[in-house]
Amino acid sequence: MSTMGPISEPLTVTYPIAETFHSLQGEGAWAGANAFFIRLGGCDVHCPWCDQKETWPSQHHPRQTVTELVQEAVTAKPSFVVITGGEPLMHNLQPLCQALKNQGLRLHLETSGAYPLTGQFDWITLSPKPYKLPQAEIYSLANELKVIISQEEDFSWAAMAATKVKADIPLYLQAEWGTEAANERIFAYILSHPQWRLSLQTHKYLGVR
Ligand code: SF4
Repeated sequence: MSTMGPISEPLTVTYPIAETFHSLQGEGAWAGANAFFIRLGGCDVHCPWCDQKETWPSQHHPRQTVTELVQEAVTAKPSFVVITGGEPLMHNLQPLCQALKNQGLRLHLETSGAYPLTGQFDWITLSPKPYKLPQAEIYSLANELKVIISQEEDFSWAAMAATKVKADIPLYLQAEWGTEAANERIFAYILSHPQWRLSLQTHKYLGVR
């Protein structure tokens, strides 16, 4: 959890930072767009196939102040800032979001929804996981749903999640990285379930972050 409390000055609040970087969004509806990423440390969802396992222990990551993070984001001049993790909602995102918003930056969140929403976002990517269930209220706040497919049962998990989100948002299935078989299963599934789209991790195919 972050160190902030009611007496903390918002700009001196700190977060454990796994990495920050300026790149293109690789996934989902905003794929290909110029984005600045803030990857927070800390995740207790513990998906067995996680490709960010190094983010799990939040104490392993250096802490940065809101001021430092905002300065980096402003310098990058991105189309939007993506707050991701780890599971970013393990932290109170309100001070960070407020300071980024004060600079006129558009904010996107990538979350499993396992913790209550904090902060204000222009776009929420919900990627619910069966290993730690999402908070019920996050489904109706999602702007896109992205479900990772690593085994056959994940299709029924995806179908259940799709019944809980708003009717008009894009629905993505994304293979666990490195599993060609999952891509083939998704391909076949979408041919008979046309409400879904395939999400490719284009940054990984391009070999960039
Ligand atoms: S929620 Fe994300 S960061 Fe956490 S274990 Fe699952 S894939 Fe990894």
